[in-house]
Amino acid sequence: MRKNIVAGNWKMNKTLQEGVALAKELNEALAADKPNCDVVICTPFIHLASVTPIVDSAVIGVGAENCADKVSGAYTGEVSAEMVASTGAQYVILGHSERRSYYGETVEILEEKVKLALANNLTPIFCIGEVLEERQAEKQNEVVAAQLASVFTLSAEDFSKIILAYEPVWAIGTGLTATPEQAQDIHAYIRSLIAEKYGNEVADNCSILYGGSCKPSNAKELFAKPDVDGGLIGGAALKVADFKGIIDAFK
Ligand code: PEP
Repeated sequence: MRKNIVAGNWKMNKTLQEGVALAKELNEALAADKPNCDVVICTPFIHLASVTPIVDSAVIGVGAENCADKVSGAYTGEVSAEMVASTGAQYVILGHSERRSYYGETVEILEEKVKLALANNLTPIFCIGEVLEERQAEKQNEVVAAQLASVFTLSAEDFSKIILAYEPVWAIGTGLTATPEQAQDIHAYIRSLIAEKYGNEVADNCSILYGGSCKPSNAKELFAKPDVDGGLIGGAALKVADFKGIIDAFK
């Protein structure tokens, strides 16, 4: 059966020292009170090699927030999937709406990134979701179906290794949250697309996280929906009390 997962996305926040302190504090909090779900923290690249050795890998997974669409070579400023894996990280967020909109990441670029992540034994947390105008025009299903093209070229075996995150862009960092019903509807739709493409077993085993202004006060209701298997958390992942409050929604 699929896993419940709470993953944090630190984005471009925290100096190295602050990030290490945050990871230590989270590690201590979860050692004292074991979570009932998988927990992942996705940090800026520069934190990865320092954070992986200080967290208990049986309790907290570590991931990057991006990786390059190229294997290696003359790509100044880029960080490859192999480099990410060499830090001990096990996950990588790909296709976040901020990467798509500010850095022009297309379906094709993301397809390359996903393949390189998998080739380096990283688990992609692949993000999809519509902007406000698309939601208002009731085009959200079409939008997520098109975005899934980046991962629907994978074999069933490889697709089974990825985690999906549905993140309505209008809810990211805005304080607006999809209602549990809105989240359930589109998660069920995404799962139906997976079932059509790969069959029911692969669809049933795929974790689909919700992201967008998730907080301790709304996590329980969202995660109670049958097709919502946890959350991808931005702002609330930067404070241990808030992040743990969301993790505790599975208790
Ligand atoms: C995100 O960026 O992945 C996210 C969900 O952010 P926030 O929780 O801050 O809305």
